[in-house]
Amino acid sequence: MENDIIFNLNEVRHRIEEACKVSGRNPADVQLLLATKTVPAEKIRIAIEAGETLMGENKMQELRDKDDILKNLPVERHFIGHLQTNKVKDVLKYVTCIQSLDRISLADELHKQLQKLNRKLDVFVQVNTSYEESKFGLAPEEVLSFIKKIKTYETLNIKGLMTIGLLDVEKEKMIPSLRLLKTIRDEIYAEGIASDLKLSMGMSQDLELAIAEGSNMVRVGTSIFGNRFLGKEIWNENLLE
Ligand SMILES: *Cc1c(COP(=O)(O)O)cnc(C)c1O
Repeated sequence: MENDIIFNLNEVRHRIEEACKVSGRNPADVQLLLATKTVPAEKIRIAIEAGETLMGENKMQELRDKDDILKNLPVERHFIGHLQTNKVKDVLKYVTCIQSLDRISLADELHKQLQKLNRKLDVFVQVNTSYEESKFGLAPEEVLSFIKKIKTYETLNIKGLMTIGLLDVEKEKMIPSLRLLKTIRDEIYAEGIASDLKLSMGMSQDLELAIAEGSNMVRVGTSIFGNRFLGKEIWNENLLE
């Protein structure tokens, strides 16, 4: 088990390096986040001990169940799943960043709880760049006004944009939803609404394409930890709840 994870992790690191080389990107500009839903803490620990420092969970329950082990390890935990407003308070106990900010009601609740805690939080705005009904995230057209609004919440540090690209067997079909996230960022820059935004995109299947399209953070699960019960064919964020 340990050897498998380290072997896979090295492969993923190699894929990232190669993709950077091919697209003339600096590898220092592309971080790896371990996507750890359904992965037991002991397995995550192996990747952390091998030098990884970022992980993302999709469920509050899993954050809580793995906390005993993970809280003592040098890893930053992000939330990357759909976040229900009533879970905000609990999730904030474990994470330093929420990558799935996708609606004002969630920003409101985060702001309220963060004010009580007298703390700030890093956030990524999730965008549904593939326009699939099975995915959460703001419609691309809504992002500019959304960011204008949440900029006024002093508890939220807007770190970037996140998307789950369209997964397909054909590369040509996967590229547009990745490219669109960068286009949106460029619009935000052009309007002077925000600067220095990271793009969180790319997973096991499309990390090379995402890096070519400007990703600053790839979120990888399957290629490191193996297949989850959930098959790629039925990728649907709603099923992850
Ligand atoms: C599961 C998940 C990933 C990783 O997907 P893999 O195909 O297993 O690499 C990335 N981002 C989000 C939001 C996820 O839920």
